[in-house]
Amino acid sequence: MPELPEVETIVRGLRQAVLKKKIKKTDVYFPGIVVARGRSLPALLRNDSFCSIGRHGKYLMFTTNKGTRLVVHLRMTGQLFLTDKVYRPDKHVHLLLTFGNGQRLIYRDIRKFGRWTVVPPEKEFRHYINAGTDALTININELKTLIKEHPARKLKAFLLDQLLLAGIGNIYADEICFALELDPETPVGKVNGGKLLDTIRAILKLAIKHKGTSVSDYLTSRGAKGNFQNLLKVYKQKFCPECGAKIVRKKVAGRSSHVCPKCQKGYKK
Ligand SMILES: [Zn+2]
Repeated sequence: MPELPEVETIVRGLRQAVLKKKIKKTDVYFPGIVVARGRSLPALLRNDSFCSIGRHGKYLMFTTNKGTRLVVHLRMTGQLFLTDKVYRPDKHVHLLLTFGNGQRLIYRDIRKFGRWTVVPPEKEFRHYINAGTDALTININELKTLIKEHPARKLKAFLLDQLLLAGIGNIYADEICFALELDPETPVGKVNGGKLLDTIRAILKLAIKHKGTSVSDYLTSRGAKGNFQNLLKVYKQKFCPECGAKIVRKKVAGRSSHVCPKCQKGYKK
């Protein structure tokens, strides 16, 4: 599932390539992914262009020149990438935008859980974004308040809760716990807020620098793999890069978690 660094990588790539480019046509092959409440997405976008592309947590936000706004959520297996004319859509391509310069933006999604939601004129983006504060922009006071409100939450459960902190999924939660040298079950009330904030930022920024993690379906806006899978320290790894111990898998917050039993303080089976 694409997490904050993957979505941010896609957003940056799209900004560079498609902002202000005329949208010639929109093909919707699977209408189930579009939530438009009786409006037609192809009609709304025809001859318009995107004037801003943003992100909150794992959500993408598009605004067009004529004021149409879209929230796109890739969910489990959504891919959003640009191609030239030679690309032939397969059965997993559900939406395709063709720009005036011939470039095409492909939405491909094997499990079809992703959504393209048209935001009605009277509503704000936030009404369609079911998420707390963005994990990359949260400040120390906001984070400390969240910790104070949920001191008994396990560190990993706290990191994964999209309604508290938006954008971190299983990969980066495991990497953050490892970088903090804490077992993922440590109560978040016992974690230093400043250190937690620095670690979250450092891991997410490093992952963005390396264009995200491709361990399953994720591709950048150029249809290429990210590189952060080569820098993962515990997630789906066999041995700890620091001490050589065997990485242990255990369930925390309902998710398979990867832990170094020696480096991560408070480790319990
Ligand atoms: Zn270790």
